Amino acid sequence: MSDALLSSLALIEPGDLVMYHGSIETHHGLWIAVPCACGICEQLDAFGLADIRFALVDPWGERSGPHHVRRESITRSAAS
Ligand SMILES: [Zn+2]
Repeated sequence: MSDALLSSLALIEPGDLVMYHGSIETHHGLWIAVPCACGICEQLDAFGLADIRFALVDPWGERSGPHHVRRESITRSAAS
């Protein structure tokens, strides 16, 4: 297994710096990942389904980021 693949599979911990490359192109870039706490996730949690989603927080606190982001849409930043 290559290093790149290994790092892409690495677990993302709350507070990790991540690169977002998902469907919202205007939001591509660096964010801090935290667990998504939207109503959908609350319900999934209640059913015991482990579909982990993330909310993204601007490291500079200037704009609100996307939430309910798929794990596949973010990559842990090498800078963290
Ligand atoms: Zn959610």
